[in-house]
Amino acid sequence: MNIIMLGGPGAGKGTASTELSKDLKIVHISTGDIFREAIKNETELGKKIQDYMNRGVLVPDEIVNDVVKERLQAPDCANGVILDGFPRTKQQAEVLDRIFEESGKKLDAAIELSIPDEDIIKRLSGRRICSNKECGAIYNVVTRPPKVENVCDVCGSALYIRKDDNAETVKVRLEEYHRTSKDLLEYYRKDNRLKTVYPKIDSSVESLMNEIKKILEI
Ligand code: ADP
Ligand code: ZN
Repeated sequence: MNIIMLGGPGAGKGTASTELSKDLKIVHISTGDIFREAIKNETELGKKIQDYMNRGVLVPDEIVNDVVKERLQAPDCANGVILDGFPRTKQQAEVLDRIFEESGKKLDAAIELSIPDEDIIKRLSGRRICSNKECGAIYNVVTRPPKVENVCDVCGSALYIRKDDNAETVKVRLEEYHRTSKDLLEYYRKDNRLKTVYPKIDSSVESLMNEIKKILEI
């Protein structure tokens, strides 16, 4: 099964993708995670993109498309993938359709998590992420606090705040989302591939997952 998760920053794409990837036993590919890792490791890619990421603007399509194209060729993608944070523009969506077509695969569902801007701001200002890459659990100090402050419930690692989760950069990321998402969502809506869910700020991960599973008929 090949699934893409769409939605603004902090809509819950990462959380939903992590859960789905466990359930369906398929890989979770987050372009944001790939980019953060590249920056941390100071790779060529990392150097090219760090300025965009820190400002909160989108990385140019050519760079993102190449990264995804290469990642999708890896053997672990054979059974299916959940793409989180890609595509983000109509141009990326067209490239993704072409990649799937060329490898005899197809997109099964485009799931949009739609939440109001004010909820996005609330969520991102309290977001805490597990520093253990294998785990990656996501918390929120208000809506989904860990049992022990700054410690991951799942694996006990320390939690951290993403560098781009500050008020100023969040504003830019939201503007970027509104600038690009209309065409992107329309691209999937026009041939009925788009399925939208409306998570409430206080809804549990479990109820969100139930809704998504109903859509996917799994
Ligand atoms: P969020 O959805 O919470 O904003 P991500 O981790 O998905 O966070 O993305 C963080 C940053 O990485 C974005 O602000 C952007 O700079 C870059 N990025 C990630 N995916 C893409 C993409 N598909 N196209 C362009 N830029 C991207
Ligand atoms: Zn953890």
